[in-house]
Amino acid sequence: MLIRFIKLSGSGAGTNLPGKIARKISPDILSYLVKQTKKEILVVTGTNGKTTTSGFIAGILKADGRKTVHNRRGANMLTGITTAVVSESNIFAELNTDNCLLEIDEAYLVKAVDEFTPDVILVTNLFRDQLDRYGELNTTAKKIDQAIDKTSKIKPPKILLNADDPIVSSLGENFPENHTFYGFEDIKFVNQDENISSPQETTNCKCGERYNYDKVFYGHLGHFYCSCGHKRPIPQVRATTVTDVNNSKIIINSQNHEEFTVNINMPGLYNAYNALSAITMALELGINIENIKKGLENYSTVFGRAETLYMNHKKVITQLIKNPIGATEVLRTVKDDFNGRLLIIINDNYADGRDVSWLWDANFELLSNYDKTVIVSGIRASDMAVRLKYAGIKSENIIIIEDIRKALEKSLSTVKEEEKLYILPTYTALLDLQKIQRNFL
Ligand SMILES: [Zn+2]
Repeated sequence: MLIRFIKLSGSGAGTNLPGKIARKISPDILSYLVKQTKKEILVVTGTNGKTTTSGFIAGILKADGRKTVHNRRGANMLTGITTAVVSESNIFAELNTDNCLLEIDEAYLVKAVDEFTPDVILVTNLFRDQLDRYGELNTTAKKIDQAIDKTSKIKPPKILLNADDPIVSSLGENFPENHTFYGFEDIKFVNQDENISSPQETTNCKCGERYNYDKVFYGHLGHFYCSCGHKRPIPQVRATTVTDVNNSKIIINSQNHEEFTVNINMPGLYNAYNALSAITMALELGINIENIKKGLENYSTVFGRAETLYMNHKKVITQLIKNPIGATEVLRTVKDDFNGRLLIIINDNYADGRDVSWLWDANFELLSNYDKTVIVSGIRASDMAVRLKYAGIKSENIIIIEDIRKALEKSLSTVKEEEKLYILPTYTALLDLQKIQRNFL
């Protein structure tokens, strides 16, 4: 009865309301349903790349012929997860699925594991994100560690960790036998200026010293070491990548497989990392290489269609920005695309993080030689304009249009046929944009 009601009310995927109602009426509903998973319960957490990584994993599971329940669209707190799981169950409260693939907010994982016990926990990376909501990175790391401890009392999960992230690779230290590390041995950029790296986050070793690096890939990701002897662990899943503005070729080596290569039709090093973490999950589940390749390639094609739209016959690429490191990686891609025009939309609603000072940590200086007009929009359009001025963009090239619809109209009218428009919105700006853009498709 409850399930039928929820299903009727929950036609909109990604909403939290049905989950909220379900949890009120039946507090253990999530636990009850997820326990019915036939194979593994998989959790993906971390600051950046959760949605894309889970998308890749879902693609691979599908290619492997598995039925999967997955909370798509980033509804990654308990109510959103409950909505997703309930909407996949039948009216007899049966969840007929091989895997549950749950993308979980890094600060909520510790609560989620009270309701179900993951078999595998994958952590992508930990960057400063929305300081005003979650506090410092170490607090987040501690919460993930608590989640791992809690789970391990019932059944120790496999823990898949990014070896290149000093904070992530130190997680779950009480359970070293359950770790699998993944990381890049080397990264080659094609047609991109290698000298410009992202701002390096200040990260200290547990001994208090600042880390040194043999190689920095982006942010605090790279081959780090400390004078106390603590250093990047040697990954079991090792990769190299050649990456350019449109795609990445990734060559993977792991203990139990021959070397293999995958091509990802998605821009940027951050997506190469997302693919590598998904591959690590797939290898952990024993999925064969053919299905891994098929799944990754399918997902990147679907993603390409979803994120590249034509509005008023102009090519538009939308990339969410929400923290300095992620934004800088997107800017790197935009900067190297000579046919790219730019619309940046900054909101400061609760879900964006109220504090927009992070804009000052993102490397907008990458755009200092950009000589086309940049349109800035959203609630904090003027803050963004000031930031761009300081980054070296001429005032006459910055146009402020707070209203998102008008800003989009203006942007589309200035994009030439051979050009494309990059839209960089914060989270709630993206939601606003999605409502408006259907009028331009
Ligand atoms: Zn140290």
